[in-house]
Amino acid sequence: MAQLIDGKKISQEIKDELKERVAKLKEQGRTGALAVIQVGTDPASSVYVRNKKNACAYIGIESLSYELPEETTQQELLALIEKLNEDDHVRGILVQLPVPAHIDENAIIRAIRPDKDVDGFHPQSVGAMTIGQKGFLPCTPAGIIQLLKRSGIEIAGKHCVVIGRSNIVGKPMALLLLRENGTVTIAHSRTQNLKELCRQADILVVAIGKPRFIGADYIKEGAVVIDVGIHRNENNKLCGDVNFEEAEPLASAITPVPGGVGPMTIAMLMNNCVESIAGIEG
Ligand code: NAD
Repeated sequence: MAQLIDGKKISQEIKDELKERVAKLKEQGRTGALAVIQVGTDPASSVYVRNKKNACAYIGIESLSYELPEETTQQELLALIEKLNEDDHVRGILVQLPVPAHIDENAIIRAIRPDKDVDGFHPQSVGAMTIGQKGFLPCTPAGIIQLLKRSGIEIAGKHCVVIGRSNIVGKPMALLLLRENGTVTIAHSRTQNLKELCRQADILVVAIGKPRFIGADYIKEGAVVIDVGIHRNENNKLCGDVNFEEAEPLASAITPVPGGVGPMTIAMLMNNCVESIAGIEG
C-alpha cells in the first residue's frame, strides 16, 4: 500500500502556520492586501478567485476584489495594475488567468511589479528562480516541493521525471527539483519512449493535462507519483492525469486527486503573500 500524500492536511498545516505569522506581523504593524483581478465571468475562474479570497480571510490578510467586465481593454487592465503597483498597501497582485483573447497575457504578466508578483510568473521571478536568487516561486510546483518535504520524501540524488513543460507547472517544477539536488529529466509531447523513461523515475511528476493517462506500465515499483492533473470524468467526478487504481499498488507514495496537489497551490499563494507583507520576497 502506497503512502497517501495528503495535500489537504499539509495545506491546512501551512495555512495555520501562516495564520500565526500574520497575527505576529499585525502586532508589529505590518499588514497588506492581496489584489485579485478577474476579467470576465468564466465559472472555473470564479471558483478559483473565490477560493483565493477565502484563503486570505482564513489566514487574516485583506483581499481586494476587482471584477472587470469581459470587454475590459488591455489598456484599462494595465492602468489598474499600474495603480495597484503604486499602492503601498497592496503587497500582492494576482490576475486570474486565462484573460480574454483580446488581452495579451504576457503583457499583463510583465506589468505586475516583481515585488508584488505573488504568482511568480513575471520573467524576473522566473529568472531569479532559475539562478537560485530571491523571488516569488510559482505556487503549484512550490507546493509540490512542500508536499514531498513534509511527507519525508528525499529529493536529493533521486531521478525525477517531470512530464510536461508548461511555463506554470512543468518547467518550474523541473527547476525546483534541480534546486533540491534531484537529477531531473523533462518529458513532453515529443519525447520518445515515454513509458521506458518514466519507469526509470524515482519521483514521477505528471502534468500532462490528459485524464488518467499514466497507468501501471509507466511506473517503477516503489516510485513516488505526484499527479498535477485536474479533470472531471464522465460522472462529473474529479480525476487526475494518473490512473490512480493502477498506480497506487506500485507506488511507494502517491497524491490523490482531489486532495493532493490542488490544495497546495492556494496555500503557497498565501505563503507568497505573507512573505511579501513581511518584506521578504520569495
Ligand atoms: P499544458 O497543457 O500547458 O501542458 C501539458 C504538457 O504536457 C505540455 O508541455 C505537453 O508537452 C505535455 N504533453 C502533452 N501530451 C503529452 C504526451 N502524450 N506525452 C508526453 N507529454 C505530453 O498543461 P499545464 O498547465 O502544465 O497543466 C497540466 C495539468 O495540471 C492540467 O490537467 C491542469 O489542469 C493541471 N493543473 C493543476 C494545477 C493544480 O493546482 N493542481 C495547477 C495548474 C495545472
